Amino acid sequence: MLEIQPGVDKDKLRSEFARLHGAQPRLFRAPGRINLIGEHTDYNDGFVLPMAIDRETVVAGAARDDRLIRARSYSQGETVELNLDKPGSPRRGVWFDYVEGVAQALIARGKLLRGADLLIQSNVPAGAGLSSSAALEVSLGFALLAISGQELDPLSLALAATDAEHNYVGTMCGIMDQYAATFAKAGHALRIDCRSLESTLVPVDLSETAIVVCDTNVKHNLASSEYNKRRAECEQGVQLLRLVLPEIGALRDISMSQFELHQHRLPEPIRRRCRHVITENARTLSAAEALKARDLKTMGVLMAESHRSLRDDYEVSCAELDLMFEIAQSLDQVIGARMTGGGFGGCTINFVRRDGLEEFCEEILVRYQDQTGITPSRYVVTAADGVSEIT
Ligand code: ADP
Ligand code: MG
Repeated sequence: MLEIQPGVDKDKLRSEFARLHGAQPRLFRAPGRINLIGEHTDYNDGFVLPMAIDRETVVAGAARDDRLIRARSYSQGETVELNLDKPGSPRRGVWFDYVEGVAQALIARGKLLRGADLLIQSNVPAGAGLSSSAALEVSLGFALLAISGQELDPLSLALAATDAEHNYVGTMCGIMDQYAATFAKAGHALRIDCRSLESTLVPVDLSETAIVVCDTNVKHNLASSEYNKRRAECEQGVQLLRLVLPEIGALRDISMSQFELHQHRLPEPIRRRCRHVITENARTLSAAEALKARDLKTMGVLMAESHRSLRDDYEVSCAELDLMFEIAQSLDQVIGARMTGGGFGGCTINFVRRDGLEEFCEEILVRYQDQTGITPSRYVVTAADGVSEIT
């Protein structure tokens, strides 16, 4: 009934590597993620609450004696050859921008990388907002460091992965995805302060509740241009509010009462963009407390408010995400639902009572399909560990 995406078969990956390269590889993995709440707050120095999921990218690798990286991705069905000393130009719009970007970001941090043979396999759906890109960057960075005998602290690894995305891929993302892929712990979400880059673990009790990811299976082209536009609008909001609140560095520094006092200074749509970020930050802090207290009812209310704020104030939702959200809201089995990720398609997350799980999955399928003609994907996920070597 549910989408069962097979896990990555690690034994098969090892034997395939041995067959191709005549050597035993080391295996490394990093997870995809969902964001429970705190959307578009990361680049505003705010708070986010991601949870790594039990879908991962696995990199099998062994060092080479020359300066080449030979990487094969099964999902891309392609092998590429890159030279550590002669990087290609950035932003070619190809999957190995990520590979080159990570290698060059590590080299820029003074790491002495060796050439390597790499096989990459993943069961994180790509482009669905579950951050297959960060899973790739972080597993790859970790693998390249380990097989080169180089050490790097985890925060620098997450930052290097983010640099790869900025400089080589050209997506000006915040640090949330790479941070989650690096620091996550099984059974927990991470409350990250995107200014101090410190995080605390928040237990996620899934004994009576399941988290279901529902993929709308649409992706509108707007995503990256609108993302950059939202970032610029937030910066404009800060500039304007600084005229009366000179001490602020980012939207994170503005309280709800300050915003109410000064919002008339902001033209539309900047006012609504700022309102989303400021209220979303407050919701994220409340949600972390609610989760900790196992108060899923409050969590559900906050999730619904988050979705509506993303829809109406930040305007990054779309008809399919709104439909998926509305269907979930109308079902008895659902405790909370919202879109997750940057928006304009991708997934919703749903906290669903375990005793109503089958029914939920069926209802979402039938109703979404009836109204859109699109078959949604549904995944039940649990909270997984961040990057690690598989031994
Ligand atoms: P998301 O991170 O939400 O999945 P992105 O557009 O940020 O979506 O990243 C998806 C891109 O990352 C893919 O188009 C591909 O270029 C790259 N990618 C992700 N996983 C892999 C993989 N296993 N092998 C090769 N490239 C991958
Ligand atoms: Mg991504």
